Amino acid sequence: MISTVLKQCFLLLLVFSCFTTSKGNEPERGEQRPNIIVILADDLGYNDVGFNGSKEVNTPQIDALANNGIIFSNGYVTHSYCGPSRAGLLTGRYQARFGMENNCEHAPSDPYHGLPLTEKLFSKRLQEVGYRTAIIGKWHNGSAAHFQPLQRGFDYFYGFLGGGHNYFPKDVDLRGNPYKIPIQENHGLGEFNEYLTTALSKHAVQFIKRNKDNPFMLYMAYNAPHAPLEAPQELINKYNHIEDKERRIYLAMVEAMDQGIGSIIDALKETDTFENTLIFFLSDNGGVYPEEWCKSFDWADNYPFRRGKVALTEGGIHVPFIAHWPAKITEPRKFEGLVSSLDIAATSVAIGGATDPDNLLEGINLLPYFTGEEKGSPHKALYWRLEEADNLWAIRTERYKYLHQPLPNVGLSFFNMIEDPYEENNIEGKHEKEQAELAELWNEWNEKNINNILFQTYPYNQEMKKVYNKLYQDRLKQSAAREVYIVK
Ligand code: CA
Repeated sequence: MISTVLKQCFLLLLVFSCFTTSKGNEPERGEQRPNIIVILADDLGYNDVGFNGSKEVNTPQIDALANNGIIFSNGYVTHSYCGPSRAGLLTGRYQARFGMENNCEHAPSDPYHGLPLTEKLFSKRLQEVGYRTAIIGKWHNGSAAHFQPLQRGFDYFYGFLGGGHNYFPKDVDLRGNPYKIPIQENHGLGEFNEYLTTALSKHAVQFIKRNKDNPFMLYMAYNAPHAPLEAPQELINKYNHIEDKERRIYLAMVEAMDQGIGSIIDALKETDTFENTLIFFLSDNGGVYPEEWCKSFDWADNYPFRRGKVALTEGGIHVPFIAHWPAKITEPRKFEGLVSSLDIAATSVAIGGATDPDNLLEGINLLPYFTGEEKGSPHKALYWRLEEADNLWAIRTERYKYLHQPLPNVGLSFFNMIEDPYEENNIEGKHEKEQAELAELWNEWNEKNINNILFQTYPYNQEMKKVYNKLYQDRLKQSAAREVYIVK
């Protein structure tokens, strides 16, 4: 059995090891296919990396990738908070196409609550052509068995299924709180005996070393620097000069992530895979901002953009976003065209020699832009819809942005993004023709969306609790009424 599997793997290696793709899906002989690493930070502020100008944060590893790669200065995610943004990234499709416009709860008993099984993740597309695939960190796409990573095109999983996790092993608790559940490795328990960001990084390093001879794809989904604010004390101490205590811890969390990324880079260099590994780094949404419902969340820095996580202003969706790939990106630079997290799947599928026979992917293969073969903006327009029932939407073209969201000083807004990239001057109503054009584009896009299907989880869980509670009460009654037999 094992030898048959080995033979099949060997054959696959033979078939694929001599191909690469330089244009679309056309394989070329003679080069090894690249490895792909997608490093996703969680709730990282736009200005909380050195390469975007921060003087407070210490991110030398991320900055080195940025300064030797491409900085997407107009890089966006498809949603302003965690779960839907990840669903867009992993499928390479706008998540509104399949109704995933809300965060998944950690609801292992809910068989309907997760990224719909009709969707194929880019991990699966790569796995089908011989890539070894891993997710390390935060999943947040459904916790029932059939939604879990190993069912969605990943060979290896180390992390947690919910929307976040506490950072220290002492907090692990089997009862209730999804942020405290044991760390999972594949379908079993994962070793967890140090600061979580460090543990995640170590498992990434091990995965790289185990797979140095295969093409691999690693989805490195750090939960840092998402709340809870927790970091090793010695790292927090480095920020004693920062007055705000929460920001001190947050900056330490970012630095721990940067150190972890450094260990990943070291592993690539040690295994001689650094040159031919495409690394994307981005955040899943903007840093937190003290909105009405989370007034105390005030530790991230999205400067120069307005607001943050959850908002459709730039602070919520315009993220730190870079690509690094020494073999193909030979001229480090900033890139101004519109780039989307959707492009990660499209690029990976193209360079990995994987397929998309039904043309489902909505991103653009960025390789020709990396090499300079293509210039200009990969996208004509990017689109957002938060929850269709609530009339929360946005569209950005190269020149304009039109949005609606009932936040203070936002509402219905129209901006000239060339002259006013920080959205300071709302010109809604002053450019009727252009506004109508953007509205038409958005409506066309929205015609292909479906309703949000993830509303009901919380009530569903409440219903499940009632069902279990009734069973429990019935059992208590039976127990009380049971006849006690006497052993003689
Ligand atoms: Ca997030």
